[in-house]
Amino acid sequence: PNRIDPADLLAVGDLLTDEERLIRDTVRRFADERIRPHVGEWFERGVFPARELAPELGALGVLGMHLDGYGCTGSTAVAYGVACMELEAADSGLRSFVSVQGSLAMRAIHAFGSEEQKQQWLPEMAAGRAIGCFGLTEPDFGSDPANMRTRARRKGGDWVLSGTKMWITNGSIADAAVIWAQTEEGVRGFVVPRGTKGFSANDVHGKLSLRASVTSELVLEDVQLPADAVLPGVTGLRGPLSSLNEARYGILWGTVGAARDCYTTALDYAKTRIQFDRPIAAFQLTQQKLVEMMLEVEKAYLVALRIGRLKDAGESVPAHISFGKLNNVRAALEIARSARTILGANGITTEYPVLRHANNLESVLTYEGTGEIHTLVLGQAITGEAAYH
Ligand code: FAD
Repeated sequence: PNRIDPADLLAVGDLLTDEERLIRDTVRRFADERIRPHVGEWFERGVFPARELAPELGALGVLGMHLDGYGCTGSTAVAYGVACMELEAADSGLRSFVSVQGSLAMRAIHAFGSEEQKQQWLPEMAAGRAIGCFGLTEPDFGSDPANMRTRARRKGGDWVLSGTKMWITNGSIADAAVIWAQTEEGVRGFVVPRGTKGFSANDVHGKLSLRASVTSELVLEDVQLPADAVLPGVTGLRGPLSSLNEARYGILWGTVGAARDCYTTALDYAKTRIQFDRPIAAFQLTQQKLVEMMLEVEKAYLVALRIGRLKDAGESVPAHISFGKLNNVRAALEIARSARTILGANGITTEYPVLRHANNLESVLTYEGTGEIHTLVLGQAITGEAAYH
C-alpha cells in the first residue's frame, strides 16, 4: 500500500477490472517470453514469422478478440485495448499484425459479410489458421481513398477486379484479402482468396520502420470472382472507414505500450549507467527527461482508458478515436526519441528497443489516418468547418 510504481505512478492500472488485468498480464507474459527475445533480430532481418505466430496468437485469444461468435473471444473494448498495449510494448509490428487480422480483415467480414463468408473465414482467422489483409490504400491514393482507381465491374453473374493496392500489411502472406474497389454503385468490399488467378503480391523492401511486419503491393489483373465474393452488407466508403475506426482504437492503446517500454527501458538504464562517478539518473537533465516521459505515458494511458470506457458504453464517436490516435502516437514518438538519448550509443542498436520503437512509430503516425488528417477531423469536430480541400 502507498508504494509508488514508477511504471504507473498514478496507478491507472487500478482502474482496470480484474478480468482486464488478467488479460493484460497474460498478453504481457506472452509478449515477454515469445516475442521480446527475438524481435530485435526479426527487425534487423526484416521478417515476421506470421505463420508460426498466428496460431499462438489465436490460442492467446487476441485475433478478432472484440468480435462476437464465430470462434472470437467477444471481449470488451478495454480488454482488447490492454491486449494491444501489451503487444505493442513488444513491437508495433506484432500489434499491427493483430490489428489488421482482427480489426480490419475479420471486422469487415463480421460487420458486412454474408453468413457463408463469416462461417468460412472467421473461425479460421480467429484461430490463426488463416491470415487476412485489408487493401484500401493505392500507390496514388492514401489519405484520399474516395478517389481510388481499383475497379470492380460485373461480368454476367461474376465480378472482375483490376487495380493496384499498396502498403498492405500481411499482403503477401494473406489467405484472404479484403479488397475495396470502386463499382457503379459506389465503393464495395470483396473477399479475394489467395491464389486467385490474376491476383499477386510483391513485398515492399528497404523499410526503415515496421521491419518486423510484412508490407506488400497487391496487383489485381482482371481477377474474376463469383457473385458471392462481394461483402453484401455495405456500399460506400463507410465500409472501409468504419473498419479503420476499429483499428485506430487499437493503435491508441498500442502506442501506450510502446511508450511505456521506452520509458521503463530508459529509467532502468539511467539507474545503472555511471558517468562522472554517478548514475546518470542522478543528473537533473536526465530526471527531467524521465519525468516528462512518465507524465506523457500516464496521460496517454488515461486517454486510452477514457476512450475505451466510452466505447464500451456505446458512446464513442470517430472524433474520440482521432483524439486518442493523434495524441498517443505523437506522445509515444517523442518519448521514444527522448529515451534514445538517455541510452546514448547503446540506444541506436537493436539490443535495446527504443530506436526500434521510434522507427516503428513513424509508420504508426502515418497509417490509419496521418497526424494531419486526424488534426483535420478534430478541427472539423470543434469548429464545424471541414478543411480537407
Ligand atoms: P498521402 O496521403 O500522400 O499524404 C502525404 C502527406 O500529405 C501526409 O503528411 C498527409 O498527412 C498530408 N496530407 C494529405 N492530405 C492532406 C490534407 N487534406 N491536408 C493536409 N495534409 C494532407 N493501407 C491499407 O489500406 N492497408 C494496410 O494494411 C496498410 N498498412 C500499412 C503499413 C505501413 C507500414 C504503412 C507505412 C502504411 C500502411 N498503409 C496501409 C497505408 C497507409 O494507410 C497510408 O500510408 C496512409 O493512409 C497515408 O497515405 P499516403 O502514404 O499515400 O500519404
